[in-house]
Amino acid sequence: MRTNWAGNIGYGATEIHGPTSLDELRAVVARTAKLRAVGSGHSFNDLPDSPGALVELTGLPQVVDVDSAASTVHVAAGVRFGELARRIDAAGFALPALASLPHISVAGACATATHGSGPGHGNLATRVSRLDLVTADGDLLTLDRSDPRFDGVPAHLGALGVVTGLVLDLVPSFEMTQRVYDDLPLDVLHDHLVELLSCAHSVSLFTVWSEARVVQAWVKQRVDEPRNAVVEAPWFTAAPADGERHPVPGQPAESCTRQQGVPGPWFERLPHFRPDFTPSAGRELQSEYTVAVGDAVAALRAIDEIRADVHAVLQTSEIRLVAADELWVSPYHRRDGVSFHFTWIDDFAAVLPVVRLLEERLAPLRARPHWGKVFTTSADDLHSLFGRLSDFGALARDLDPAGKFGNAFTERTGLRD
Ligand SMILES: Cc1cc2nc3c(=O)[nH]c(=O)nc-3n(C[C@H](O)[C@H](O)[C@H](O)COP(=O)(O)OP(=O)(O)OC[C@H]3O[C@@H](n4cnc5c(N)ncnc54)[C@H](O)[C@@H]3O)c2cc1C
Repeated sequence: MRTNWAGNIGYGATEIHGPTSLDELRAVVARTAKLRAVGSGHSFNDLPDSPGALVELTGLPQVVDVDSAASTVHVAAGVRFGELARRIDAAGFALPALASLPHISVAGACATATHGSGPGHGNLATRVSRLDLVTADGDLLTLDRSDPRFDGVPAHLGALGVVTGLVLDLVPSFEMTQRVYDDLPLDVLHDHLVELLSCAHSVSLFTVWSEARVVQAWVKQRVDEPRNAVVEAPWFTAAPADGERHPVPGQPAESCTRQQGVPGPWFERLPHFRPDFTPSAGRELQSEYTVAVGDAVAALRAIDEIRADVHAVLQTSEIRLVAADELWVSPYHRRDGVSFHFTWIDDFAAVLPVVRLLEERLAPLRARPHWGKVFTTSADDLHSLFGRLSDFGALARDLDPAGKFGNAFTERTGLRD
């Protein structure tokens, strides 16, 4: 049975198609009653699965076509970020944010509003200005920002059709450094959390919740921007790391991107992991919850209250800042968010009660779960938390009246109502 990357989900689909041409894809979609596209399978739940067929797009031409005049790239859905980044950099362009892992597909990452971090940097789907879709009847549909429904489209959870290509906005290429600092007491963050998360182009705070302290602060800075003052502030007592670090304390750092202030291209500093190094074969589970920036310290305190439970099933936890956007299903919809991520041990039975406890403690803060990770939030709560889920459901029904792209996940979460 085909599984996701982590191996915690066995896809129930009875057929897997790998078309090698657009016409073949259109014919498969048109003749199949139930079908969903799968990207690189890095989600930790059954979101990509289908009770009928799965379709993989890596057999289609892996186009990466940069339009220098427009500062955009047209990229095939199945291309992974590691490859995309290398190609756009060669043309003098960059993306301002990337996820921690470059091995994920562009279409799959945008579908779940996957994010990097940093002040003013939205989730990856916010770069999408156009989407090419094969709709339920096998027709081609192009949706772009001129369509009034477009805010429902870039992050689409696989429910609108099969994406074949995306156009992304680019910025000029840039160089960065990455510095890691060890050991910062958690109570310092009660006064300085957002200041610290905003102090550079991209910042990640890692903690294991064994004690009230941040184990590592990863500070990623553009070389053409002034060195941030925060790391010289009296309250910033963390010390520069004396070697390269892995986000899971104690693990070898050979799979990680270069640190210790060595300048390098944006795509070799923004992700935590190197594209040429496949990280541990998925021996982990992940969850993530995003609260409004104004509630971030309250979330920190709420998690700290249950840190023994969290620590017992945790590998590492990461705190990041992501900018607000207008996308209907985005966890950052109309609010700048602080995301609290958890890399758990790969024992679902042990992790699940802690996930529930965490959700209970973060519920008063209206924490929105990451769509691609482990969560148990009910359909009613999701509708209340995400604001425009009903509009998204209406769009999905409009494009796919018979529910071809529905699955157990879309039913359970009430995505189509
Ligand atoms: C080690 C690791 C690190 C991670 N780091 C981050 C991080 O830093 N930030 C973050 O936000 N998330 C992170 N994630 C989560 C990950 O980015 C998301 O789960 C993402 O959606 C995975 O992309 P994928 O291509 O593997 O998608 P899949 O899991 O294959 O699919 C996800 C969704 O996309 C849909 N989809 C995929 N391709 C298409 C297509 N062509 N047409 C229509 N729908 C499609 C699927 O149907 C499904 O609904 C991480 C995951 C792992 C395993």
